[in-house]
Amino acid sequence: MKNKKISRRSFLERGGMAGIGFMLFPFAIGCGKDIPEIEKPTEPTEPIDPGNGDGGDGGDGGDGGNGGDGGTTLPVVKVGEVFPAWVEGCLDIHAINTGRGESTLYILPDGTTMLVDASGSLGGPTVDPPLTPSKPNDSVTSGTVITNYVKHYIAPASNNKLNYLLLTHYHADHLGSYSASSPLAPEGNFRMGGLTEVGAKIPFDTLIDRDYPNFKYKTADMSDNNAMSNYVKFVNWSKTAYGAVVEPFEAGRDDQIVLKQNASKYPGFTIRNIAVNGKVWTGSGTNVKNTFPELTEWLALGSNGPAENICSITFRLTYGKFKYFAGGDLQYNGKSTYAWKDIETPVGEVTGEVDVMKANHHGTSNTNGDAFLKALKPKAVLIHPWRDVQPNLDTIKRMLALPNSPQVFASNMTEANKVRLGSTISDFKSTQGHIVVRVEPGGTQYSIYSLEDSNQEYKVKQIFGPYGSK
Ligand SMILES: [Zn+2]
Repeated sequence: MKNKKISRRSFLERGGMAGIGFMLFPFAIGCGKDIPEIEKPTEPTEPIDPGNGDGGDGGDGGDGGNGGDGGTTLPVVKVGEVFPAWVEGCLDIHAINTGRGESTLYILPDGTTMLVDASGSLGGPTVDPPLTPSKPNDSVTSGTVITNYVKHYIAPASNNKLNYLLLTHYHADHLGSYSASSPLAPEGNFRMGGLTEVGAKIPFDTLIDRDYPNFKYKTADMSDNNAMSNYVKFVNWSKTAYGAVVEPFEAGRDDQIVLKQNASKYPGFTIRNIAVNGKVWTGSGTNVKNTFPELTEWLALGSNGPAENICSITFRLTYGKFKYFAGGDLQYNGKSTYAWKDIETPVGEVTGEVDVMKANHHGTSNTNGDAFLKALKPKAVLIHPWRDVQPNLDTIKRMLALPNSPQVFASNMTEANKVRLGSTISDFKSTQGHIVVRVEPGGTQYSIYSLEDSNQEYKVKQIFGPYGSK
């Protein structure tokens, strides 16, 4: 079992990055009035939240024979203390909140590491709709915040590198924005922001995106631009600097993202590629069906063609009985005119039930549709808002109306939107902080944690669970 002490070096590095961040966000300074009061940690002695009645049932019995490490001693998690390091056999899913988009770190049961997206949307106080507060503050870039977080938690797992870096789609709140004033990478000819900053500072083995090596699979709201050119430079640099393998995500496969360190010990772990670029797994073998118009028709549609969001990389992770879904910014926007714009419904049909899901497209309007939610029947939904309109009230009502009353966690939210959400806000388990799902060896049960995001110390604010996997 690997359970090395976490290096303290990363804490020292944090202070050194702040100045760079200040230069990057000159226009964001001054929006401090939007920053809500920091939530005080709950009492350190708070007992484990029993949830809504389904927590702690542990009724699945045993470890399911899925190869879990029966000898693992799970670290004790306490409110007010630093969230403890991953130990072998656990599956950790860290939704890192920067207030500027999405970034999720996965530490898989054998120590394989994967970062999905690295937010870094540049935006100032004049953006409409307004942004959520950046975390921990405006003086540090989201790329730096993610880099520090990832370095802290991958240290005991994968020798300080990422096995996989995955980009769901090319929007700035997942890739990062480009600015001519962003700092140049020390060894590269690209500028660092969001994913390119994280990738410049943390080595990785494999980069997977939705359309390598073409980058030209044009969507209605994407075109060649400086951000894409910069990203392509970064991709090419990584092949030389790290010897990185770069490949496109292929829907239908269950052997593209695999355990790299000890796969035979965890036969109950798989990642199934569900969808990308309108191609959706059929549920049979690795077969896919194309839900989009043919490319010639697609291009002729111009601005009515497929949006970048519905091209997002989508996958389902299974660890024993535990199942988790992540689908980038999938949505059903525009389905009344073009039925194929509802990518969620075919994705839901083939995904089936899960325990935990990341909400599509930050929980905004015209996402997380009824048929999709009823197919997944999540017990917990993780939402990562970064705009004032996220999450949307109707979207939340659909989630809460599900028969199993899923628990809803948000990693950020504006004060104005809390008002808009009205009484449903009381149904949220958390509205601010990094969110961590820790699945115990074998996948039979899991707990969910909210971590403080007003500094970079990763202290636990709230504990929910444990919950039995379905
Ligand atoms: Zn997004």
